[in-house]
Amino acid sequence: MSHEDCIFCKIINQEIPSAKVYEDEHVYAFLDISQVTKGHTLIIPKVHVKNIYETPSDVAAALFEKVPKVANAIKSAYEPIGMNLLNNNEKPADQSVFHLHIHLLPRYGKNDGFS
Ligand code: 5GP
Ligand code: ZN
Repeated sequence: MSHEDCIFCKIINQEIPSAKVYEDEHVYAFLDISQVTKGHTLIIPKVHVKNIYETPSDVAAALFEKVPKVANAIKSAYEPIGMNLLNNNEKPADQSVFHLHIHLLPRYGKNDGFS
């Protein structure tokens, strides 16, 4: 179910435009508006959950099941030499959008902008 004030729910519902990387029944993946590195992507569940603490196992399973597929799509498109996955939960841990998301951060070398 979508959450009326959530920007990521609005992205899923196409009320806010995004650069789609992958979509299926359960998940949506799109380029982060602020590209820390080239191809920086977020993958989110279509159901609104605040963060990992509030995520039912079936939602987590459906989300993580698709992470390798999205990671490989990014790898093919951008040819990074590595990739970091990142998930921030709660403000002190730098969560700024309160709809669960996994960052996929392609890496291009030591001075690629992500440290
Ligand atoms: P967090 O800091 O919560 O882990 O990550 C939230 C991410 O969402 C940030 O990297 C930020 O750039 C991205 N973001 C915030 N608003 C939008 C938006 O409207 N569109 C897209 N594509 N990304 C967004
Ligand atoms: Zn949401």
